[in-house]
Amino acid sequence: MALRFVIIGGGPAGNTAATHAARLGATVTVIERDVIGGAAHLWDCIPSKTMIATGGAMSFTRRIQGMGLEQQVAEIDNDALAERIAGIKDRLQSGTTRLLHSQGVTMIAGFARFKSPNDIVVETKTGLVELTADKILIATGTRPRIPDWCQPDGERILTTRDCYPPKEFPEHITVIGSGVTGVEFVHMFSSFGAKVTLVVSRQQVLPGKDGDAAALLEEDFLRRGVKLLKGARATEIERTDEGVTVRCDDGRVVYSSHAVLAIGSVPNSDGLALDAAGVETDRSGYIEINRHCQSNVAHIYAAGDVSGKLPLSSVASMQGRKVAEHAMGLQTVAHRHLDYDKAASAIFTEPEIADVGLAEAEAFSLGRKIRVTKVPFSGTPKALINNDSRGFVKILSDPATGVVLGGSIVGRHAAELISVIALAVTANLKVTDIVESLLVHPALAEAIAEAAE
Ligand SMILES: Cc1cc2nc3c(=O)[nH]c(=O)nc-3n(C[C@H](O)[C@H](O)[C@H](O)COP(=O)(O)OP(=O)(O)OC[C@H]3O[C@@H](n4cnc5c(N)ncnc54)[C@H](O)[C@@H]3O)c2cc1C
Repeated sequence: MALRFVIIGGGPAGNTAATHAARLGATVTVIERDVIGGAAHLWDCIPSKTMIATGGAMSFTRRIQGMGLEQQVAEIDNDALAERIAGIKDRLQSGTTRLLHSQGVTMIAGFARFKSPNDIVVETKTGLVELTADKILIATGTRPRIPDWCQPDGERILTTRDCYPPKEFPEHITVIGSGVTGVEFVHMFSSFGAKVTLVVSRQQVLPGKDGDAAALLEEDFLRRGVKLLKGARATEIERTDEGVTVRCDDGRVVYSSHAVLAIGSVPNSDGLALDAAGVETDRSGYIEINRHCQSNVAHIYAAGDVSGKLPLSSVASMQGRKVAEHAMGLQTVAHRHLDYDKAASAIFTEPEIADVGLAEAEAFSLGRKIRVTKVPFSGTPKALINNDSRGFVKILSDPATGVVLGGSIVGRHAAELISVIALAVTANLKVTDIVESLLVHPALAEAIAEAAE
């Protein structure tokens, strides 16, 4: 009999595991309470990047003068924008559903919980469905964290999920949280022409990211008129007749039309009745996993955001793939374990910020000897042609061997360009391998080759 593999959650982790396990011969069932594609399609990656792309087009119309054109300022059409976001989501969702169908995966719409280590109960619209599995994957993701000092209402006090697009476009929005999601929302709303105030709990945005990149982003925010409230923690948000009042721990108060919370996530592990399966979580509710993504119960895996590793769609998908291989016994000597330290990530601001592998600050704190080369885009012909020479490429390498250890790129198309350095980091390539690649001219990637010199 084929292995019975049940997957809870149809996001990137769940649906990738499902297609791979089915291809490898398992009988696969995916249980999803919302939509196949998961929060990634419904609330996170796709809608946020769609909004950012439209906002980017709008802000571009304010900058075209430098390119020898007359300035035209675009206006927001909220209904058309909502339709565009829904259209992209539907297309991706039906593509993923078709793929699962084509692999013979069974999909059940409903909310799953454990009955025992091998038995799952699903609450569906038409009643309870019971399933027995040989292997189970928990891929239930996370949801926005709501602190006890704030009650989002979906109108003025928003979570990130209320913004695609918001019911009413904010005239002035206060963004709480200056991590990746917070700065992307600052960029998004300011691109649409809203006045933005950002509450930054530390002295710089993007804690833990490349300091040069964070400084460049702050410069862009200030150029756009974004107000940065540094060293402040929001402690209260209150809805008033005119909008919202945000109070901070240092006594500062911000009055704005809207506020959005971007202060992290909590895992969707409650409600799964994990006790019935004996699966343990850490104190925050994330399911602890080993390098094969197994929980403390060997036949129960966890992947994606609920596993508390890097909260990235790309990482979730790769974990799903590795889970399928492990569950189907495809572990060979040559098997490559997932190396979370080598994951590329990007922040979709303007300029874009992308990085991979070892960071400069991390290398210094480890006392590790590295060679750092940094090349600004200002000398790159394609950047001048694009009328946008902001940003730089930075490459970190081992001074003894020349092996590329990491890098960061700030500038236009950084999220695409970082792939070159990501490949070098994953494949242990040397800086000379990049230098000797015959690249396109004129192209922004020439700055990468120059930084590798
Ligand atoms: C605003 C925002 C923007 C982001 N942008 C990016 C980006 O640009 N690039 C990137 O790589 N990452 C991005 N991320 C992160 C990315 O969205 C997540 O890493 C990714 O969605 C994780 O995938 P997952 O499969 O773990 O979970 P999810 O995509 O959250 O899917 C989990 C699914 O499980 C379902 N589920 C939960 N509990 C149950 C249950 N008991 N029964 C049945 N179904 C259940 C949920 O309905 C959900 O559909 C962003 C995150 C946010 C918040």
